Amino acid sequence: MTNNHSEIVVVGGGHNGLVAATYLARAEHQVTILEGRTELGGAVASAEVFRGVAVRLSRFSYLISLLPTLIIEELGLRLELRSRQIRSYTPVDGSGLLIERQDGRLTRDSFRMLTGGEREYQAWAAFQSRLHELAAVIEPTLTQPLPDVDELRSRVHPYLWSSVVERPLGELVESTFADDTVRGLTLTDALIGTFSSAHDPSLRQNRCFLYHVIGNGSGEWKVPVGGMGALTAELVRMAEDAKVSIRTGCRVDMIEPESGSGATLRLADGQTITAETILANCAPATLQRLLGEPYEPPVGSQTKINIVLRRLPQFRSGIEPAIGFAGTLHLGQGYDRLQQAYEDAAAGQIPDPMPCEVYCHTLTDGSILDPELRAAGYHTLTLFGLHTPPDLFAADPHGSKERAKAAALRSLQSVLAEPLEPCLALDRGGEPCIEVMTPLDIEAELGMPGGNIFHGDLAWPWLAQGARATTPAERWGVATGHPGILLCGSGAVRGGAVSGLGGHNAAMAVLEDD
Ligand SMILES: Cc1cc2nc3c(=O)[nH]c(=O)nc-3n(C[C@H](O)[C@H](O)[C@H](O)COP(=O)(O)OP(=O)(O)OC[C@H]3O[C@@H](n4cnc5c(N)ncnc54)[C@H](O)[C@@H]3O)c2cc1C
Repeated sequence: MTNNHSEIVVVGGGHNGLVAATYLARAEHQVTILEGRTELGGAVASAEVFRGVAVRLSRFSYLISLLPTLIIEELGLRLELRSRQIRSYTPVDGSGLLIERQDGRLTRDSFRMLTGGEREYQAWAAFQSRLHELAAVIEPTLTQPLPDVDELRSRVHPYLWSSVVERPLGELVESTFADDTVRGLTLTDALIGTFSSAHDPSLRQNRCFLYHVIGNGSGEWKVPVGGMGALTAELVRMAEDAKVSIRTGCRVDMIEPESGSGATLRLADGQTITAETILANCAPATLQRLLGEPYEPPVGSQTKINIVLRRLPQFRSGIEPAIGFAGTLHLGQGYDRLQQAYEDAAAGQIPDPMPCEVYCHTLTDGSILDPELRAAGYHTLTLFGLHTPPDLFAADPHGSKERAKAAALRSLQSVLAEPLEPCLALDRGGEPCIEVMTPLDIEAELGMPGGNIFHGDLAWPWLAQGARATTPAERWGVATGHPGILLCGSGAVRGGAVSGLGGHNAAMAVLEDD
């Protein structure tokens, strides 16, 4: 190491670390990023996963909703986020529920066919507009100091507030919808990466739901053109332009806080570096480990499967594959099935068939495919399986991963009119292009403790009643209890997901302190 001091050190070069570093370097701070892996971007990454198959898959995260336009514009990112024409398709017994991005005749007819009347559609439409009201109040505060909970509550309809924020989400879902499919579809947003039942008193499912429906004021999930790696490439370009010093393959093994402020960081190769301010882009539990403090690892809950297909398979329901796969395809996500899957997993069994959502990037953006594969009709599928916490894999990582793969593929196969296998692309060695990652794999790949994709349970995006925020770090929701050490990742109060919020808000706290 040439330099053993930096004014600000960012531990981790995930997307949030890059965002924070760029804001601060542009404000004339001297910033160094220390990234343990050889690649930057953390969970925001594209990779050619299968040997000899030229497809840049979004290997971990895949859709973007919570990255505010403000951050894109302030950083000057050249990033295209494309809408999908279809929001979701949920096959049910040879038929299915199709929901357009903007509810129109197709959506209405589909609700009527599935549920036998107008009631569920009307309830759905009213529910969506209430969620937009909530998003309009909360989303603009995400890039501001933490708002006061009473102030926010006063701006939201009391029933909506109490049913999203104070009562287990299951009550809202059950009182709003009668149909099992529509109930399950709604609950899914509460279970992404979150191991919970609809009625969990901790309300972690409510917090997960809230983050999934407020992004940019609409809750729409968009496709990053070029894949997730396109966002990281832009963030790296901006950080380099701003003269951030970036070191990869540089794992921090220990942080020793100085009395007052600042700390000494010990690296895996034995070197040390001192800094006045440390921004932790790693998970809060990782930070505690590095500080030598006791910590409880969080629990992830998902199985991620990346697939390349030679062609899209036909659906049993007869819907065109280009429509059924165009939005988010919900599988095994009826409301009762979700509860059963949760109970199975809590009892130590991999849910089979596994509830999952599937997304085809290449129907909206073919640019991640080599032109020859694109012309030949190749496509990618991303499968995100629910209710698969790390405990299920601990005793027999290999065997249980195979069982999880089979359970997830059974879910997909159950809605197809033909076997999936002949549709799978093969890699150079003749192996089918399927990559499976359990929470244990996510932890090993990305250092996310417990494989938790949000670095821990999501927090309400406001200052709790009676809480006092006296320092800039507390006001911005990035405090750690150590002056001079701030969270700047998914584990910040408003961090979870690909949002840049953890990084933006940590940078704003440092600048406010200036
Ligand atoms: C499989 C999967 C699917 C997901 N899908 C979506 C999605 O579609 N949309 C969405 O919005 N969100 C999604 N998420 C969540 C989202 O990707 C993450 O919450 C977000 O990317 C976290 O960003 P981050 O920069 O805070 O942290 P990370 O991406 O975790 O980056 C932290 C970085 O810190 C580094 N690091 C950790 N410890 C050390 C150390 N000791 N020394 C040096 N470096 C260290 C890591 O190597 C890593 O590069 C998904 C996540 C996963 C894993």
